[in-house]
Amino acid sequence: MTDQLGFSTRAVHAGFDPDPQTGAVNVPIYASSTFAQDGVGGLRGGFEYARTGNPTRTALEANLAALESGRHGRAFASGMAATDCALRATLRPGDHLVIPDDAYGGTFRLIDKVFTQWGIEYSVAPVSDPDAVRNALRPNTKLVWVETPTNPLLNVGDIAALAGVAHGGGAKLVVDNTFASPYLQQPLLLGADIVIHSTTKYLGGHSDVVGGALITDDPELDAAFAFLQNGAGAVPGPTDAFLTLRGIKTLAVRMDRHCDNAETIAEFLSGHPAVAQVIYPGLPQHPGNAVAQKQMRRFGGMISVRLAGGRDAALKFCSSTKLFTLAESLGGVESLIEHPGAMTHASTAGSALEVPADLVRLSVGIEDVSDLLADVEQALL
Ligand SMILES: *Cc1c(COP(=O)(O)O)cnc(C)c1O
Repeated sequence: MTDQLGFSTRAVHAGFDPDPQTGAVNVPIYASSTFAQDGVGGLRGGFEYARTGNPTRTALEANLAALESGRHGRAFASGMAATDCALRATLRPGDHLVIPDDAYGGTFRLIDKVFTQWGIEYSVAPVSDPDAVRNALRPNTKLVWVETPTNPLLNVGDIAALAGVAHGGGAKLVVDNTFASPYLQQPLLLGADIVIHSTTKYLGGHSDVVGGALITDDPELDAAFAFLQNGAGAVPGPTDAFLTLRGIKTLAVRMDRHCDNAETIAEFLSGHPAVAQVIYPGLPQHPGNAVAQKQMRRFGGMISVRLAGGRDAALKFCSSTKLFTLAESLGGVESLIEHPGAMTHASTAGSALEVPADLVRLSVGIEDVSDLLADVEQALL
């Protein structure tokens, strides 16, 4: 029934009705690792052991599927656990995948350092260029893995075009939708086969829980995810599932404020002499602006800037803000600043994915924008 409802309504309601026994409006934190059976195999609510399934996690998974307009959702202990599951469910030794030439550092590290040991090959291509992605396909390509916008360079890929490229080559398209969130972008409706999230970021939204998710319409893929979720066991506990669900209820209102604040700050930075380049998909000069307008509701809360003064100026900017906290991660209510080259993307150093040394990434929070502007202004002095 929640299928026909608007996004915010789904965010608040999907996955759980008030508890018939107690009337509790929120799903309880089911702190139970095992579930009593009425005779051998007589499961009361479909649950037997909490690695296989826990009611709090089940509520989250149904909610995640509804948010992405998908049929099946699976929750994991982290975004990387979800990434690992998606890769293992779809790739076999001898297979090949294409990843962004500016992929999230952790995704790159897992594929480059671990999956290559098991006979998986990869190529890199810019997500903003579907022809380049097509040229990177091989007869053994099983997966095209994209982020859009990418982390940290905020390149934009045309999801519908990339789905056409992947499917034309007999591969599946995976979209890491962490940066946009399902409020701003719905990859399954644009032709993607799998959506992956680090729910640590906008979905959780309060920097208090680590988690991941996989969403798909394909029952076979979902069965493979479920098998590995149970078989390998990288599951979130019930408290983590509860916190993530609690965060999701306000996703739409938070995202609108993130977008409002980021638009204002991106505009301010665009005119600043200390800044050589502002990278924000909502700016008309961003090369992905037209595609972003087509497939995103708004442009998100992430801004990257390249400083005119190079690496030293970038490091100084990162340590001069007072409200923007110097920290990894993103997507929480509080504003964060970081130096990708030395922090989140240090694992890409020396590779084709190395990020510029003068780059600073801002995760714009939901504070009063006047305070955020004043903070950025004093830090760039
Ligand atoms: C953070 C992040 C991940 C990894 O998620 P974790 O929850 O930290 O394991 C994957 N992709 C993107 C785009 C991210 O920002």
